[in-house]
Amino acid sequence: MYKLTNIRILTCNGEEIEVGEVLFNEDVIIDVGKQVSMEDPKIKIIDGSGMTVLPGLIDSHVHLGMDASPDPFASMKDEGPVEIALKAVQQGHEFLKAGITSVRNLGTRDNVDISYRDSVEAGQIEGPRVFAAGRPIVMTGGHGHVMAIEADGCDEARKAARTQLKAGADLLKVMATGGVLTKGNEPGATQFTEEEMRCICQEAANVSKTTAAHTIGTEGIKNAIRAGVTTIEHAYLLDEEAVDLMLQKGTFLVPTLLAPRLILDKDGAVPKYMIGKVKKIIDDHKVSFQMAYQNGVPIAAGTDAGTPFNVPGLLVDELQLMVEYGMKPHEALYSATFGAAKAVRMEGEIGSIDIGKAADLIIVNGNPIEDIEQLRHPVYVFSRGRLVHEKTSHINTHHELKV
Ligand SMILES: [Zn+2]
Repeated sequence: MYKLTNIRILTCNGEEIEVGEVLFNEDVIIDVGKQVSMEDPKIKIIDGSGMTVLPGLIDSHVHLGMDASPDPFASMKDEGPVEIALKAVQQGHEFLKAGITSVRNLGTRDNVDISYRDSVEAGQIEGPRVFAAGRPIVMTGGHGHVMAIEADGCDEARKAARTQLKAGADLLKVMATGGVLTKGNEPGATQFTEEEMRCICQEAANVSKTTAAHTIGTEGIKNAIRAGVTTIEHAYLLDEEAVDLMLQKGTFLVPTLLAPRLILDKDGAVPKYMIGKVKKIIDDHKVSFQMAYQNGVPIAAGTDAGTPFNVPGLLVDELQLMVEYGMKPHEALYSATFGAAKAVRMEGEIGSIDIGKAADLIIVNGNPIEDIEQLRHPVYVFSRGRLVHEKTSHINTHHELKV
């Protein structure tokens, strides 16, 4: 049992307590307020003077097991499930250290993310909570086919959806358009038809699961929204009609602003075709994000960790980009906490500091609303009420030396 005292509390559910207290056990939040009381000599007290507690962050778009190398699909091609799983374990620790206590995994070869999730749930390894899509579902030759199930036509798409649900997927990932990382793919081109995606969405809806669509080109974006996906990923080329459709359908946007930026200036490091593709769409990406944000499309923050140079824990960079493009800091935080929890329909369990919710909590220096950079090195990270990371002065020095 822990009690935080003298601490600023950002509940990320609309309330901020300037100086308050939070009580939690090795599971859930017991109490939160200006003052909470509990007589228990075994309570560990953390004096949070000068610090802020907020819910553990949620990265809504990652790829556990993908190694953030210049051409991750190429390295994944030669790897078996064991190598991918070992990378996932290592990445899980990195996520936790960065205060990311939940990740939404949108595609990993061999369903490694599903096994990883189960091992974390069983307490066999330490890692973030995972909402796992497992293998994505793509058309023959579609984006990410190296890690995917290929399916063509409604029947095959249903079969693939059912196969993934049988394997234990929490949600289904589909590719509505081509992608940057897949050689030979035209990123703007449509891939799955609306009908194929509708069949997949129906299968997910039948068992109350969600769906996510990789999208770049406008037509593919609209196909996916009309088909009924829960979230649109990337969405480089939105137009007004697409935004209206999202509002009508309640579709979330996960913009992943950081991912293309990490590729853009890596001439010579990443394959040439990637740079060419990114250059064509990077400016539109910003405009699309701003259009969605200004019109009130619900937004969840995700990094696309695992793509080139996109190592675990860069969510704060993504939030900084959102703020740079016009979002208010508290809205950016919301998109990485409560807003993101809604995209996986877990808002009853995670994403805010409320009584009864999971004790996924991070404590940072200062006030991240005033300086979002404070999120980068959390002082304490709790996952399910267990202390999983503590910044020591030793680690601090080490980091400073490295930089
Ligand atoms: Zn991705």
